[in-house]
Amino acid sequence: TKWVYSFGDGKADGNAGMRNLLGGKGANLAEMSSLGLPVPPGFTISTEVCTHYYDNGNQYPAELKAQADAALAGLEKALGMKFGDPADPLLVSVRSGARASMPGMMDTVLNLGLNDITVEGLAKKSGDPRFAYDSYRRFIQMYGDVVLEVDHGHFEEILESAKDEKGYRLDTQMTADDWKAVVEQYKAKVEEELGKPFPQDPQEQLWGAIGAVFGSWMNQRAIVYRRLHDIPASWGTAVNVQAMVFGNMGDDCATGVAFTRNPSTGENLFYGEFLVNAQGEDVVAGIRTPQSLTVQGREAAESDLPSMEEVMPGVFAQLMDVREKLEKHYRDMQDIEFTVQQNKLWMLQTRNGKRTAAAALKIAVDMVHEKLIDRTEAVQRVEPSALDQLLHPTLDPKAERKVLGRGLPASPGAASGKVVFTADAAEAQAGRGEAVILVRIETSPEDIHGMHAARGILTTRGGMTSHAAVVARGMGRPCVSGAGELRIDYAKKLMYAGEAIVKEGDTLTIDGASGEVMLGEVPTIQPQLSGDFAELMEWADGIRTMKVRTNAETPADARAARKFGAEGIGLCRTEHMFFDAERIVAVREMIMASTEKGRRLALAKILPMQRQDFVELFQIMKGLPVTIRLLDPPLHEFLPHTDEEIATVAKAAGVDAEALRQRAVQLKESNPMLGHRGCRLGISYPEIYEMQARAIFEAVAEVLKQDGDTVTPEIMIPLVATRKELDILKAVIDRTAKAVMEEAGQQITYLVGTMIELPRAALKAAEIAESAEFFSFGTNDLTQTTFGLSRDDSGSFLKTYEDQGILEGDPFQSLDTEGVGELMAIAVERGRKTRADIKLGICGEHGGDPASIQYCQEVGLDYVSCSPFRVPIARLAAAQAAI
Ligand code: PEP
Ligand code: MG
Repeated sequence: TKWVYSFGDGKADGNAGMRNLLGGKGANLAEMSSLGLPVPPGFTISTEVCTHYYDNGNQYPAELKAQADAALAGLEKALGMKFGDPADPLLVSVRSGARASMPGMMDTVLNLGLNDITVEGLAKKSGDPRFAYDSYRRFIQMYGDVVLEVDHGHFEEILESAKDEKGYRLDTQMTADDWKAVVEQYKAKVEEELGKPFPQDPQEQLWGAIGAVFGSWMNQRAIVYRRLHDIPASWGTAVNVQAMVFGNMGDDCATGVAFTRNPSTGENLFYGEFLVNAQGEDVVAGIRTPQSLTVQGREAAESDLPSMEEVMPGVFAQLMDVREKLEKHYRDMQDIEFTVQQNKLWMLQTRNGKRTAAAALKIAVDMVHEKLIDRTEAVQRVEPSALDQLLHPTLDPKAERKVLGRGLPASPGAASGKVVFTADAAEAQAGRGEAVILVRIETSPEDIHGMHAARGILTTRGGMTSHAAVVARGMGRPCVSGAGELRIDYAKKLMYAGEAIVKEGDTLTIDGASGEVMLGEVPTIQPQLSGDFAELMEWADGIRTMKVRTNAETPADARAARKFGAEGIGLCRTEHMFFDAERIVAVREMIMASTEKGRRLALAKILPMQRQDFVELFQIMKGLPVTIRLLDPPLHEFLPHTDEEIATVAKAAGVDAEALRQRAVQLKESNPMLGHRGCRLGISYPEIYEMQARAIFEAVAEVLKQDGDTVTPEIMIPLVATRKELDILKAVIDRTAKAVMEEAGQQITYLVGTMIELPRAALKAAEIAESAEFFSFGTNDLTQTTFGLSRDDSGSFLKTYEDQGILEGDPFQSLDTEGVGELMAIAVERGRKTRADIKLGICGEHGGDPASIQYCQEVGLDYVSCSPFRVPIARLAAAQAAI
């Protein structure tokens, strides 16, 4: 078996397609190398070694050592240097590299191969003893921390006191001898902590670092991260061993990170930061302020520090060239790391860059215009659920705001919540349903769970590429980073903003688009839906085959849904129209009436209101299909509870309050969701459905008269289990239609159909389709009744089911395609057999869930229907499902 893959010098054993075997980093180093980009040579130990290691009681495959030795020998030959050579030592970096980038893993050891002897060689060869000893102490520090697990605080203390003693403020003031002394103290500390000296043998160092990478695959942080992101442990990580290049050998050296386009906005501008005379970790550590790559970037950041474009124009030109090559080759925005050694550029990493939803959208649309990708590809580039971020409100510019401070606009969106200072507190309070803002000096991988739980993240330190910024963008959380005027006191749980003091629990608003931090909650406004968004949506619409409708009953929702591109109403829940203060009394009166006469009196009050509702909906929908579901009230939602409510209804109905109270007791059910609801109510009291049908048909007639628009309403009967139920109720509707047509002197066309939300209905679909002209899958109830799992109560224990792997997720959020889905497939097949042109749709919550929409496409539904805000998500998901 081949376990080790070499790269460098314009060649490579691997390529970008071998991500599973080589990890993301290794696969892309190989790819860049083959592309002829300047990559320091090295080799990748494959993920299969990691798997083998854990499958075999922490043993490496027998051939590994020989293969790694051969690869290292190749490296030595390519560079004309030797690992461990006292005169001119080859130094390497060791880095982890999983398939998906994974914080929590051992990250990097640099300068490996240095020891008491080779450091002298490096000093002579480079002519810079200060650099050599600085490199050595960095190596001991990193290796000590991540491989030997010596608390890094020890090293920081030693360095701080060394500087104090000399009266230095900055690391740059340290001389070669100063570093040499620090090295001695570091080594002594390691020996004191571990009871054995710091390893001097480069081979021992190398295998120690490789072992630490594999070991970190199973550390707690990595395990938690994998669980949060559904990454199987069986994937394993690769290890990359690569010749060192130095960004810290002088002022013609540098190190930096960049995105080929702006990852926040998607603008086609090179975007990144670098530090002169520094090594990789200095950029992320935030000790020195990084400089912009471009003049434009410098101006945007209002920085006094010159850009790379100005101070290293030659290198900058190389970098621009690489940027173009990478984008052409990968046809996507890249996130790169590089080092400049004596004015020569070296690429250390490239990967598809994480981006905000706004950036994903802009980049996808721009790349179509630039002819890098086609429309179909663009439609696949945007995660439908990420559109949520774009559809979410931003701060009302006219709203008053009490600005406490300003940081970097690290991840867009506005968020308000109560201040918490720890990730644990964020998780705990969010678990209780509170909106929280996580406020930290800076964040680290240990804070991921809290960042996830928070509505937004605020840090007082760190730049656009800091941990907080990168992770928040990936998660779609608004983030303001590096708000330096704010001061946090963790111990006192306070944040100082000039004069103001913010306590834990105070409400804060952050605006990730402007970087502003505000006291209290600031009102928001709705987003713009034009430009790139409209363009991508249009492409999606051109691809998808399923229609997208909305679940709406109020004019406001219906209008919003139209703006979002809904092609009709798939579910108008008429009982939702009955909750306003004026109507609820009449509705209660109707529900509580003990005689048909009593009910008809109440229904007569409701009819004109209901008719007007439908007129408005039809007008807004302008001839698009509108599915109206007749009353489906779990009765308990409508019963009056308080004495006051009972008195009001009694008065309206002209009956005795005490009699009414008794009627309420009589009507109370112990299992209302399986009780007197849905079509069962229509069967008991046909006059209710008769009134609703009349309101619908009169509204159709009215709209034709007023606007000349023809509406074909789709009347839907809920909770049907048998064909008989449907037949009886259809007869009521047909009779009413006939009456209204005669009264209005108009022809009215309409459809009568049913919801499929009971397993029996799905199984008997062939029979039901003899009467039903359409089916709409009510997957909320269908999930509830298939699992026998209460949609209202299951939240409390579903988590345990997910933790134990019984269910993959909440079946009320994402369709259980195996069970509930099979019932749908059966109903589709049997329904179509009876009635080839039967209309099929879904109107449960799943109609707005991308994975469920994929399944709806597979079983061949004609449309999905979802809440207004999810309409764009559904349009995009339906397009992706059709590709
Ligand atoms: C359903 O059951 O899926 C449905 C859409 O109806 P409701 O949620 O109103 O019960
Ligand atoms: Mg239902």
